[in-house]
Amino acid sequence: MPDKVLVTGGAGYIGSHACKALAAAGYVPVTYDNLCTGWREAVKFGPFEQGDLMDRARLDQVFAEHEPIAVMHFAALSQVGEAMAEPGKYWRGNVCASLNLIEAAVAAGCLDFVFSSTCATYGDHDGVVLDENTPQTPLNSYGASKRAIEDMLKDFGAAHGLRSVIFRYFNVAGADPEAEVGEFHQPETHLIPLILDAVDGKRPALTINGSDYPTRDGTCVRDYVHVMDLVDAHVLGLEWLKDGRKRTGEARMAGGADVFCLGTGSGFSVREVIDQAKLATNRAVPVTEGPRRDGDAVALVSGSGRAGAELGWKAERSTLPQMIGDAWRWHQTGGYGG
Ligand code: UDP
Repeated sequence: MPDKVLVTGGAGYIGSHACKALAAAGYVPVTYDNLCTGWREAVKFGPFEQGDLMDRARLDQVFAEHEPIAVMHFAALSQVGEAMAEPGKYWRGNVCASLNLIEAAVAAGCLDFVFSSTCATYGDHDGVVLDENTPQTPLNSYGASKRAIEDMLKDFGAAHGLRSVIFRYFNVAGADPEAEVGEFHQPETHLIPLILDAVDGKRPALTINGSDYPTRDGTCVRDYVHVMDLVDAHVLGLEWLKDGRKRTGEARMAGGADVFCLGTGSGFSVREVIDQAKLATNRAVPVTEGPRRDGDAVALVSGSGRAGAELGWKAERSTLPQMIGDAWRWHQTGGYGG
C-alpha cells in the first residue's frame, strides 16, 4: 500500500498542484477541504474528504480512517486586503483552525508536518534580501497569523515530538503545464491572473496598485516562483523528514521545526510582469494606475539558498515567460465552476 499524505486545502490552488506532485512521487494524497474557496473539480489525484479544520471530530475520523504518514497543511485564508479589514477572520480561520489540526495530528501520532508559510511574515525590510533568519515583523493579520502558526509548530515540536518543515513562500505563480489544475480564485486578487483577465477582456484593465514606491520603476517588487517548483519542494521536504528518521535510526527525528524560504532570488516589478505578459500572450495589457494597496511591502525577494543546499531543490521552471505562459494556457481552459 502506498503511503498516504493528508493534504489540507487540497482543493485549492497550491494544494491541488501538491496533490499532483505527491501522486507522481508514489503517494496517495488525501484532500481535506471545506470548499469555502477550493473546488471539488480540483481534487483529481486521490480521495476527497470534505470537512472543516474547526471540526475536531471529523479530523479525528479522517486521521483514523486513512492513517496518513504526514500532513501537508495548505488550507488558509490568504488575502492581504481582507486580512486588513477583518483580522478576526484570519486569527480564527488560520490560527485556531491550525491549532485544531496540529492537536489532531499529534493525537493520531502523525508527527511529520509540512506547513505553508509566507514571506508576508517578514513585513518591510527596505531592500534587504530575506532569508530564514530575517526578523519577522508582519504588516498585516495574514502574515501575523502565519507567524503564529510557525511558533505553534515549534512549541508542539518541543513538547510532543512534532517534526515540521516550514516553507516561507515568496509569490507563487503559474499553473500545471498540462493544465489539469490551475489558479482560480473568486474573487481574484493576484497579479498574474488579473493581468490575464485584462488581456482577454474579462476586466477592463489591470490596476497597478501604487506607482510611487521607492523601486526602479515605482511599482512593488516580488520574487515569483512557479507553483510546480514550489510543490516539488514539498515532496522533497517530506522525503527529508522521512530520511531524517532513517539518518538517526530513530522512529522519528527529535521534534522541531526547520524553515526554508522558497524563492528564486530575483525580484520583478509589477510593470516588468506586465511587460512579460504582453510577450507571453502576444496581446496588449490594458493598464490603469491606482493607489497603493494597504498592507503591501515595497519589495520581497528571497536571499536564501537553504532549500537548494539541504533539500536539493531547484527552481527550474520559475522564469516569468514560463510562469505566465503556463498560467495563460490554464486561463484559456476557463478554470473551474463552468
Ligand atoms: N498588484 C497590482 N494590481 C493588482 C493586484 C496586485 O498592482 O490588481 C500588485 C501588488 O500590489 C503586489 C504584486 O502585484 O505588489 C503582487 O500581488 P499579489 O496579490 O499577486 O501577491 P502578494 O504580493 O500580495 O502576495
